[in-house]
Amino acid sequence: MARVEIREVSKSFGEVSAVEQVSLKTAEGEFLVLLGPSGCGKTTLLRMIAGIEEPTQGDILIEGQVVTHLPPRFRNIAMVFQSYALYPHMTVYKNIAFPLRTRGMAKAAIKEKVHWAAGMFGIERLMNRKPRELSGGERQRVALARAMVREPSVFLLDEPLSNLDAILRASAREELRQFQKRVAVTTIYVTHDQVEAMGLGDRIVVMSKGRIRQVGTPQEIYQWPADTFVATFVGSPPMNLLGEGEILTGFRPETFLPAEFFQEGVETATYDFEVTWLEYLGAERLVYGNVGEKSHARHVVARLPGNVALPIDAGQVYPFAVPRAELRFFESRTGLRTDRSAV
Ligand code: ATP
Repeated sequence: MARVEIREVSKSFGEVSAVEQVSLKTAEGEFLVLLGPSGCGKTTLLRMIAGIEEPTQGDILIEGQVVTHLPPRFRNIAMVFQSYALYPHMTVYKNIAFPLRTRGMAKAAIKEKVHWAAGMFGIERLMNRKPRELSGGERQRVALARAMVREPSVFLLDEPLSNLDAILRASAREELRQFQKRVAVTTIYVTHDQVEAMGLGDRIVVMSKGRIRQVGTPQEIYQWPADTFVATFVGSPPMNLLGEGEILTGFRPETFLPAEFFQEGVETATYDFEVTWLEYLGAERLVYGNVGEKSHARHVVARLPGNVALPIDAGQVYPFAVPRAELRFFESRTGLRTDRSAV
């Protein structure tokens, strides 16, 4: 187990500034997710931790040692990319054993380690197969086992599940999470998928344009986004944002419900909600529409649980409300969250 520390790291590629002044510390055994849209610099940051890319400025420490200019092989890290490549002519056993064989480990020790790693990912029964005889999910597990077999002190993963279909992805996510907790190896995981980030991370680092916007637990990021970027990037549909003046008011779609839904005594902000479109999704209904005067009406979305059977039709106006405790406020100018309320 090891901690990773990033000290004011920047990286430019010529004119392009990919990572700007990023500082970050993992806890030991933590599962940290780097989340952000395409091009925000998350892969570049991961590659600098791995030693594949050198920072233009700043330092990277692993286990308290400055490793900024050390090549990957001296860092005791393992990395799995989206396009992990297994050796096609080797069996699963040989694929997993490969990193140990290149280190010259004794045969018996290799065998023990390979079985340990395969057991972690439930792939022992596949040992004699070649990669082409495996499903996508099984190949993924072999790649993870091959990375883990060296017992790295830091595990770096770059969208390793993105080649899997939706169902496999969900189960692979669950397995990865359980595995990581079992071995408690510090893990840094890159994704642009906020659902994946919320499900996997002990903490999430939200990035945009090379900079960190917020670091927090999934609950903190979702409940108390640091700015309007985080508020709208995390959550699907995103946080609703209303307002014209200095302060924007935000609320999550699931907190915006028919006014009659709230008991007396709950302080709410009430809006006339002109419904334009409904989407029935089984477990929930998404209700799209506008609030506010015609001239500066704002588009908002409500998310009603499937068991709220109130009839709601497009083209009608309904009183909807948000508990005041669920309102969030942001400065229009900077986008930063503020305690100043607009209402
Ligand atoms: P994605 O999810 O699409 O992989 P990302 O958030 O991981 O995106 P990076 O790959 O880190 O983003 O790229 C950050 C920025 O740096 C982008 O603008 C990218 O074009 C640029 N960049 C990355 N690598 C290089 C390189 N080797 N040469 C020039 N520019 C690069």
